Amino acid sequence: LRNKADIILANKKKTETHPCFNGCGSEYARMHLPIAPKCNIQCNYCVRKYDCPNESRPGVTTEVLSPEQACEKYKRVKEGLPNLKVVGIAGPGDSLADFESTRKTLSLIKREDPEVTFCLSTNGLLLPLYADELAELGVSHVTVTMNAVNTTIGAKIYKHVDYMGHRYFGEVGAAILMANQLSGIKRSTSLGLICKVNIVMLKGINEYHIPVVVEKAKELGCEITNIMQLIPVAGSEFENIPLVSNREIMGMRKQCGSILKQMYHCRQCRADAIGTLDNDQSINFRGCTGCNDI
Ligand code: SF4
Ligand code: SF4
Repeated sequence: LRNKADIILANKKKTETHPCFNGCGSEYARMHLPIAPKCNIQCNYCVRKYDCPNESRPGVTTEVLSPEQACEKYKRVKEGLPNLKVVGIAGPGDSLADFESTRKTLSLIKREDPEVTFCLSTNGLLLPLYADELAELGVSHVTVTMNAVNTTIGAKIYKHVDYMGHRYFGEVGAAILMANQLSGIKRSTSLGLICKVNIVMLKGINEYHIPVVVEKAKELGCEITNIMQLIPVAGSEFENIPLVSNREIMGMRKQCGSILKQMYHCRQCRADAIGTLDNDQSINFRGCTGCNDI
């Protein structure tokens, strides 16, 4: 096992070619592998038949791949896109809700290409359980969507949380989720993983609370936060809540920029996005692995 200083150095080096973490939107490509359809929480802005709105544009169906299909797809995309640097697991559900699938996918690809950068996004509920294994599997970048660090606010955002065989509602569910997000991020950064926190800005719900979340992200050792617009999903609890304007989002990012580095170039990509952030090429690589459309 490498020591922590070596891991930090290697992960920082990988950040140089990670288009989301370094802002090089048109130079290097990343691909999302849609291998994680399950989720263990219910956000009020999500309808599960679509992609996870935490990391992907909703309203677009995606193919779901087995780990073997995902590895085949990786090989094909790597051949077609020599500037491919990053493999991300971003749903369409939560990447840790079915960890078997994520573990196997990462192991297969790592065997093919030990140099690849692995990036993973999660709601954080199971991060304390898997952070160590993620580091061992070679994951260098982790994103946790953390919309609040206050249970009263959290209870307005999360309908329920499924944890250790039980379903928790309201503030109890929110408290479990948040405690795990905080300890999972802390463990991840202490292992040398580069962490980002995504925050969905929700009008009248968490908008004035966001700087507190950013402060917490900083305290936990995160590199950057990504304050995002809500994309309303038909049929979700938050389908009709008023949206924050671009101006309000930019104002909040600017305000929080005095606390921690901010992401300004997130495209809220699909769970099967492929290419540079400026040029999605996922359509050119779909449907050739015998996978099922959902
Ligand atoms: Fe939906 Fe993602 Fe929230 Fe799960 S974590 S409920 S998939 S938005
Ligand atoms: Fe990068 Fe944002 Fe797209 Fe994720 S959703 S790959 S962070 S640009």
